[in-house]
Parts: sequence; C-alpha cells; structure tokens
Amino acid sequence: MSRTLVLLIEDEPAIAETVLYALESAGFEPIHAGTGEAGLALFRERDPAIIILDVGLPDLTGFEVCREIRRGSEVPVLFLTARDGEIDRVVGLELGADDYVVKPFSPRELTARVGAILRRSKRSVAAEDTMAAAPPEVMRKGRLELLTDRYQARLDGADLGLSRYEFGMLKVFLSHPGRVYSRDQLMDLVWDEPEAALDRTVDAHIKTLRKKMHAIDPAYDPVKTHRGLGYSFDEHP
Ligand code: CA
Repeated sequence: MSRTLVLLIEDEPAIAETVLYALESAGFEPIHAGTGEAGLALFRERDPAIIILDVGLPDLTGFEVCREIRRGSEVPVLFLTARDGEIDRVVGLELGADDYVVKPFSPRELTARVGAILRRSKRSVAAEDTMAAAPPEVMRKGRLELLTDRYQARLDGADLGLSRYEFGMLKVFLSHPGRVYSRDQLMDLVWDEPEAALDRTVDAHIKTLRKKMHAIDPAYDPVKTHRGLGYSFDEHP
C-alpha cells in the first residue's frame, strides 16, 4: 500500500526536520518546501493528501498560500502558527483551514492531528459518494434549513457557506432551540479534539457564523449570547 503524501511548507529547518521525521515515523510520506512559492509548486506537482502550512514564510504568508490553494482545491490544510495574533486570524478568517497547531508543539500531537483530519476527510468523501443515492436529510427551524448530510446550511434558501465547526454548532443549536450551551459543551459536541481547542475558538466561530447570517440579513440574529454561560438559539428572533 502506498503511503499518504503529506506536504510540509515550513521555512525553519529545525522545525521542518522534526516534523518530517515525526511524519515518517508515523507512516506518512512527507515532502517539504521552505517557501510559499516552492510549496505551491510542489502542491501542484504532487497533489498531496494534506498540507501542513506555516503562517510565517519568507516570501508569501501562509494565509496567501492557503488562499491560492483554495482557488481550486479542497485539500485539508493544517496551519502551524506562532503567535496569538496569528491564531485569531486562522480561526477568524474565511481561509478554509481545517485545523491549526500552535508552536511550540509536540510532533506526536501534530501527527495525531494529521491522522484525525485525514480520517475526517475520508469520511466526507464517502458521504459524497453515497449522496447521489440517498435523498438529503433536512432540518428546518424558522428561516434556517440544514442539509445535514452535505454540511450545508441555508438562510431563506441561500447557502451560508459555513465551515465545518460553524455548521456543527448550528446543528447543535437547531436540535434544541432555546437551550443554553456553554463553550465547553459546544466544544465537546462539535470539535473532534476538544481538549486541544481553546475557549475563544468557540467565540471566534460564533462570530463568523453571525457574520455569514448578517451578510444575508443584517437584522437576523438567532444566536443569543448569555454572558458568563454560553450561547443559545432563538427559533424566532
Ligand atoms: Ca516560519
């Protein structure tokens, strides 16, 4: 069986070496680029199953590289970020990143994340394969409609373009309108590895979820903040 190709784009030789070694030990086939441009070239040439992308690169930023990749590919992207400010941009921006790891990280943690993301993306590919046969599962509450088997949410029929976590939270909310969920509960219900996530991750995704709804209707705000407690969903805001 051929090994899974993992592209690492990282300019710091010491970090790159550690990560490459960890990936190899975990059974992956890692390839490496030290700049954004070289990384994009390798990505086009080799078609990796997943990309580990450093935010701070010498030529392009990791964000620019990700944006370029996303122009024509849904390949999973795992960000390596150095600072707090970078984390906020990774989780807050519409970059289509699948996860991120903050430096310094343990190689074992990183390879575990890579494995988890790959399992997840395989599952969604499998879901797409069966989609043609089965009718879509639909959840409706108020003006919202969730096509749960395609991870798609619509407001007044318009696709909200939600990320996986935004969609996951909305699905939890819709299943129990009015119920207040704490950040921890949301993380447990929606995140794959909640112990590795941060409280403000939930807040950041709530913020982008609201932003996407407001893009369709600025007055529509069904997600209520309960200070010190968490969030709930109001079916008829
Ligand atoms: Ca760097």
